[in-house]
Amino acid sequence: MPLSDFLAAHPVAFATLALVLGLVVGSFLNVLAWRLPTMLERDWRAQALEALALPAEPPGPTFNLLLPHSHCPHCARPVRPWHNIPLLGYLLLRGRCADCQHPISPRYPLVELACGVLSAFVAWHLGPGWACAALLVLSWGLLALSLIDAEHQLLPDVLVLPLLWLGLIVNSFGLFVPLGDALWGAVAGYLSLWSVYWLFKLLTGKDGIGQGDFKLLALLGAWGGWQVLPLTILLSSLVGAVLGLIWLRLRRAQSTTPIPFGPYLAIAGWIALLWGGQMADFYWQFVGY
Ligand SMILES: [Zn+2]
Repeated sequence: MPLSDFLAAHPVAFATLALVLGLVVGSFLNVLAWRLPTMLERDWRAQALEALALPAEPPGPTFNLLLPHSHCPHCARPVRPWHNIPLLGYLLLRGRCADCQHPISPRYPLVELACGVLSAFVAWHLGPGWACAALLVLSWGLLALSLIDAEHQLLPDVLVLPLLWLGLIVNSFGLFVPLGDALWGAVAGYLSLWSVYWLFKLLTGKDGIGQGDFKLLALLGAWGGWQVLPLTILLSSLVGAVLGLIWLRLRRAQSTTPIPFGPYLAIAGWIALLWGGQMADFYWQFVGY
C-alpha cells in the first residue's frame, strides 16, 4: 500500500507525523521570529545611513538565520545538539541553561508546542493531500507573523508577500477557491483596511492601523477568497477586543504601547479558512434562509 493511502486510512498516524514535523518547524520559527526583526533593522539602518550620505557603520559579526549558532543569551555558551531537540530539550534541561543554570524563556517550548498542535490539527482536519501541505505552510507563516507582530509591531513584507503570492498560486489550481475569488479577495482585503486607515487618518490625523495589516488581510483573501473577509474582520475584532483587554491588563504599566492587530487577523483568518463554510451554513440555517 503506498504511503499516502496508508496515511489517508490512518488519520491518527498522519496527525502524529504532522505533530512531530510541527515541533521541528516550531523550533525554526523561534529562530526566525527572534532573528528576522534584528536582521531587518540592521538592513534599514544601513540603508538609512546610505540615503543620508552618512558613513556606514563598521560591519559587526555575521548575523543571519544560521549564524551565530544557538547559544544561551546569558552565558553565550553554545546549545548542545541534543538540547536543541524541540520540547524534549527544554524538558531535559528542566527549563534551565546546562552551563549557567539561567532560566530559559518558556516561550520557546510553547511556540514549538503550539506549532505542533496546529500542524496536527490541520492534518487531522484535511487529511493527506496538497490542500493540507499548503495549509501547513500558511499556518506556520501566520504563526511566525503573529509572534513577530506581537513583539515588534511589525509584519515583514519578506514573509507577508511570498505567502500572498503563494495563496494566488495554489488557488490558480483551485485548491481552496476559484482564482477569481482569490484575486478579488486579495484586492478587497487590502482596500478594506486601507480605506479604514485613511478614513481614520482624515478624521483624527492619527495612524489607526498598521500598513502591514492591509497586506495581511490581502494575504488571507488570496487564500480563502473574498468570502472569508467579512468573517475574518468580524472575528478579529471580537478576538482583538477580548485578548486586547487581557493584554492591556497584563501590561498596565505600558498601556501606551500600540496593540498589534496582526495576530488577531491571523487567528481569525485561519479560523475563517478552516470553518468559514460551515459557519456560513450554520448562520443561514439559523436565520431560516
Ligand atoms: Zn547559560
